[in-house]
Amino acid sequence: MTQTSFSYDALPMRVRFGAGSVASLPDEITRLGARRALVLCSPEQHATGEAVSATLGERSAGVLAEARMHVPVEVARRARARAAEVGADCCVAVGGGSAIGLGKAIALEHGLPVVAVPTTYAGSEMTTVWGLTENGRKRTGKDPRVLPASVLYDPDLTLGLPVAMSVTSGFNAVAHAVEALYAPDRSPVISLMAEEGVRAMAGALPAVVADGGDPDARARALYGSWLCGACLGATTMSLHHKLCHALGGTLDLPHAATHTVVLPHALAFNQPAAPEATEALTRALNTGSRALNTGSRVLDAADPARRLWDLAGTLDAPRSLRDLGMAESDIEPIADQAVSAPYANPAPVTRDGVTRLLRAAWNGEPPG
Ligand code: NAD
Repeated sequence: MTQTSFSYDALPMRVRFGAGSVASLPDEITRLGARRALVLCSPEQHATGEAVSATLGERSAGVLAEARMHVPVEVARRARARAAEVGADCCVAVGGGSAIGLGKAIALEHGLPVVAVPTTYAGSEMTTVWGLTENGRKRTGKDPRVLPASVLYDPDLTLGLPVAMSVTSGFNAVAHAVEALYAPDRSPVISLMAEEGVRAMAGALPAVVADGGDPDARARALYGSWLCGACLGATTMSLHHKLCHALGGTLDLPHAATHTVVLPHALAFNQPAAPEATEALTRALNTGSRALNTGSRVLDAADPARRLWDLAGTLDAPRSLRDLGMAESDIEPIADQAVSAPYANPAPVTRDGVTRLLRAAWNGEPPG
């Protein structure tokens, strides 16, 4: 053990994991002492929401298929009104971070417990972080009331997650683990989860790309996303997440794809100042993405940032901010935002350094 001084608060998380586990939803509702669940999902997953509602039978208070990215405040208001109108005493949020974010918005104001059924790898179900967007501005905060009371991870519900989204969502998860490994409030138990989360996700993604309907690959990816999400919930994120927040909030770049492009660059920036994190990631990526080593190219085993960039390339994921729609003229303002407020980060965050990082990410160059 290399970390000899730390503190650790465990979040009260309950997890049921396994193919078909969504069938245990009625038991979870009963366990909460609740009787009527409002099912929340995005319009694109209306059919999934209805199917989940059907498993609830008389415990369902209906489906609200209005979840949107970044939880617009008017959607949250409508959802709270609907929950009150139908007499819901809990919510079931089925979907990615958007659906779970809507459940959190209801929990924040009305205290209704949320049962989360995640269908992406974003990890919101493992955190006390909520977000609400009003007039183009996203407010975020932490509140223990928004932590889902129960989380059902059913890999069957991820079989239909398009492969390209699976890859970027998987990188989004890996980003949580990467930053947890060098977080100011890291601890040995979270570092173990982070390393295992990266190993599971990086190992699963090539198999998901080869066959999005492979149940074993889907189970391993979802397992990785749980661990990575738990790391997000337990630690304070640094430069990588600050940059993605600025890029998403200011330029409306797509959430998971932005994480995918920025992660290798943010990690390369921090690697020299975070040797233990680098070692853990090297171990995780050596075993996790073994499939990569079968190619003719010899990859630098001790450079996890480069490994992740290569993995993104192999999996046909985006590697350039320009390709995501960012204009070159946006580099400087985003760099300004990233250095405007101080935060913990292993390497000193300088404006020049961040500008170089963003320029490389914009151009799609290798990291470092
Ligand atoms: P998302 O929830 O917006 O989902 C993206 C799209 O994929 C939606 O149209 C959704 O319906 C669809 N989809 C999801 N699962 C699917 C499946 N299995 N099959 C087919 N389609 C599916 O995207 P996301 O990346 O999961 O979440 C992003 C949002 O979550 C952002 O607003 C982000 O800020 C937030 N987030 C919050 C936290 C937190 O701790 N509060 C953590 C991570 C992400």
